[in-house]
Amino acid sequence: MLRLGPIMTTIPFNLQQVRDRIRAACEAAGRAPAEVQLLAVSKTFGPQAVQAAWAAGQFAFGENYIQEAVLKISAFSALTNANRSAVQWHCIGPIQSNKTRLVAEHFDWVHSVDRLKTAQRLSEQRPASLAPLQVCIQLNVDGGANKSGVVAPAAAALAQQVAALPGLCLRGLMSIPEPAPDFASAVAVFARVRAVFDALRAGGLKLDTLSMGMSADLEAAIHAGSTQVRVGNAIFGAR
Ligand SMILES: *Cc1c(COP(=O)(O)O)cnc(C)c1O
Repeated sequence: MLRLGPIMTTIPFNLQQVRDRIRAACEAAGRAPAEVQLLAVSKTFGPQAVQAAWAAGQFAFGENYIQEAVLKISAFSALTNANRSAVQWHCIGPIQSNKTRLVAEHFDWVHSVDRLKTAQRLSEQRPASLAPLQVCIQLNVDGGANKSGVVAPAAAALAQQVAALPGLCLRGLMSIPEPAPDFASAVAVFARVRAVFDALRAGGLKLDTLSMGMSADLEAAIHAGSTQVRVGNAIFGAR
């Protein structure tokens, strides 16, 4: 079931609040606001909610559940008549093997690649008529063995292999650290992701995207160098 979401007029207001937070966090960190892209995470909200954000100038949307997203992408297109290239759809959720084809055919970006097998399938299944799928490797920076993401010591080997796949364009890293008790410890964890990112770049990979920070911790992520924050609740309301 897709939720209708809050009263649609609150979405433009919330969006502006989030943009203001991003701007303030960039200023506090001595960074230019243009360095940080906002990804609006619309999972569980319907196409009207996406339309409301889009009408308010938001063009990049993140989705976790593949089948829900595929339906939403076509419903959004029908609703708005928007050119497909005027909207970016980012897959940010776990990808089972039997969903790779849907992801390869419908999304512009994937943030949740954490093993070679998934990357190979996405590359093979990416239609030749589309631009390469833009990819971030998900890094498990703090979790146990059953948490999604590649662990830091294995990140460089995976990144080199993914970068060589023809249907993909490796752009960077994504991470979802556990909530931290305070700002300083949140920054410290995000800085570990940043350090892995910097090491990959020093190793010769041309990466420009560090996808980290959500509604609750985007300031800390921006402080540590995030270039893309993924924000759901603060834009669309509670899920
Ligand atoms: C849901 C989700 C978000 C957004 O989280 P909020 O707390 O709603 O901002 C960001 N990234 C991922 C991977 C998510 O699953």
